[in-house]
Amino acid sequence: MSGHPIRRKLVPGRTSDPVNPDIEREARRIFKDPQYRAASEHVISQLSTGHFAEIARAADMKLCGRRPAAIIVKDNAATGYFTARCHQRLCPYCQALNAAEQRMRLLPVVEELWAVDKQLSVLTVSIPLEHGDSPPFAFRLLDNALHVFTRSTPFKSCVSGWARGMEVPHVSDGFFPFARFLVEGELWQVAGLLHCWADSVRLAGGPEPTPQSVNCGELSVAPCSILHQVLACPFKPEDLATADLAALRDLQLGMRWRHPIEFCLSWRRCAGELHEEAQRSAQLEDEAEGVRQIGFYKLMQQSQRLDAKAILLSLREILEGDDDFREVVAMLRSGSKAGLL
Ligand SMILES: [Zn+2]
Repeated sequence: MSGHPIRRKLVPGRTSDPVNPDIEREARRIFKDPQYRAASEHVISQLSTGHFAEIARAADMKLCGRRPAAIIVKDNAATGYFTARCHQRLCPYCQALNAAEQRMRLLPVVEELWAVDKQLSVLTVSIPLEHGDSPPFAFRLLDNALHVFTRSTPFKSCVSGWARGMEVPHVSDGFFPFARFLVEGELWQVAGLLHCWADSVRLAGGPEPTPQSVNCGELSVAPCSILHQVLACPFKPEDLATADLAALRDLQLGMRWRHPIEFCLSWRRCAGELHEEAQRSAQLEDEAEGVRQIGFYKLMQQSQRLDAKAILLSLREILEGDDDFREVVAMLRSGSKAGLL
């Protein structure tokens, strides 16, 4: 990326240390968090009473984080694992981890801007809703208005970089979204901002925004904590844990085809370059130490081979005793009983 003097620093961690990379550490924390667990179990039980596609989604969600996707191997023994996720829109684990991943990608970019005293501000924009508006309608309206807003001349002339997160709190009638931006550029007067947002909402076919529909403030705390605010998990787990099937259906429909988090092109490119570079050097270090990653299912297919057997048995030892992996351990145990492992 030109224009921003970005220090090259490593973000992704090494394969040899699966708990060290920020995202894996965050994953372990989120999968064990009782609030996220309660939310996931509630969503699964609601969807299980729905139609065929919803039952299938619930089945996918049940396995989220409970199956190893890749095994970390050194000297024919498992030293760690990465888990597979379901990537369902209503999965609180996946949404929280996606947000954590995006924060991790963007952090070095924003830290560098912060270090060279670029002006960073946080904008919050929402759409005024009338009684009886449905959540899917609100999502469509917000999405269209955001599209117009980020392409408008006033926005482009004031903002040289941005990241946008969406939050979807549960209010009286269901889940209704609003958006938060982290922007690099002049701090606008709220009146000017309201004007630009009002034009965007009108062009998107929505009603006149009120002064409460926009908020703008200069960044006063460090980028790490501000990223937690702007690129947060779109849902609160406690909201999901109490929503009924109708509200979840509306939310699923509203979130469809929409990106809860977006970056401007230059920040995305820069974050992508840094990420790739960090991955390359982590890979080189792994190679030097003889650490590699192997897919779990590939290993299962090769389980007749001695080296694959050894790896699977050492994996069983690691997973044994963790209730979340009961099914996987049972599968590995029956494999060894049948002489496969
Ligand atoms: Zn999931």
